[in-house]
Amino acid sequence: LGMRTYKLNNGLEMPRLGLGVWKSDNGQETVNAIHWALEAGYRHVDTAKIYKNEEAVGEAIQTASLPREEVWLTTKIWNDAIREGRTTQALDNSLKRLKTDYVDLVLLHWPVSGRVKAWQELEKAVEEGKVRSIGLSNFMEEHVQEILDGGNITPAVNQIEYHPYLTQADAISICDANDIAITAWSPLMQGNFLQEPLFAEIGKRYDKTAAQVVLRWCLQNDVIVIPKSVNRGRIIENGQLFDFELSEEDMTAIDQLERDERFGPDPHNFDF
Ligand code: NAD
Repeated sequence: LGMRTYKLNNGLEMPRLGLGVWKSDNGQETVNAIHWALEAGYRHVDTAKIYKNEEAVGEAIQTASLPREEVWLTTKIWNDAIREGRTTQALDNSLKRLKTDYVDLVLLHWPVSGRVKAWQELEKAVEEGKVRSIGLSNFMEEHVQEILDGGNITPAVNQIEYHPYLTQADAISICDANDIAITAWSPLMQGNFLQEPLFAEIGKRYDKTAAQVVLRWCLQNDVIVIPKSVNRGRIIENGQLFDFELSEEDMTAIDQLERDERFGPDPHNFDF
């Protein structure tokens, strides 16, 4: 119920709630959002090189009233660097923008060509102390298998699109078998959860909002969540997840909504 961290396969404790900052700016909007989130009890921020806001994330963490070590920081290596064998350099550049000498987790953002070699570069970055955990994002079953075969370190995390309409059984099954944690991206279906009346209906029984119900459903499926908002009230709302528990019946009712529907690109079949 109150379990705030997830013990990864490398022994580190990753906060199960993080703030997503995709489409947040590279300035005050993001700085404020992160400060509000930290005040509300979040201890984890999820950014990426491609979000073009690592400088603001770094500034927010530097000016927060918490020490750097108390905030879990995730960033991601963009596809061009993976393809062109420039993962180490890309990580060094992210560290500079983030104004820190290490990140807690770095992910290969998409399973593009060059991924096994990029993974080996991340393994070196672990040895060098630039990153504490390494993982994947948008890696489907066959892509995860390739990394397990070609690497030495088992990925700590796979961050994939995950919400009541899309639960990705195949990708999750290989991750479960190898003790790879799942982080849900777009856990709030990019805002589309509001179209589904069931969440608010269930929420009434717990005095919780639809957003809180969806996020709690993810947590009870042992999935880490990184909801995005730059609105103070919503950031606080999305953080109040550890004081209630959905019944088995309500969990099952939400499970029935699965319809294999993506709001983002399909990693089986994409090129960018
Ligand atoms: P999300 O599912 O978190 O939805 C965010 C949107 O939902 C907000 O913009 C807002 O419109 C709405 N919202 C948020 N809280 C609300 C509330 N309490 N009430 C009503 N509406 C609310 O969408 P997301 O940003 O796509 O995903 C979250 C994070 O996941 C991103 O910010 C990013 O960090 C990460 N992400 C990663 C990948 C990847 O490829 N690895 C892809 C997409 C997103």
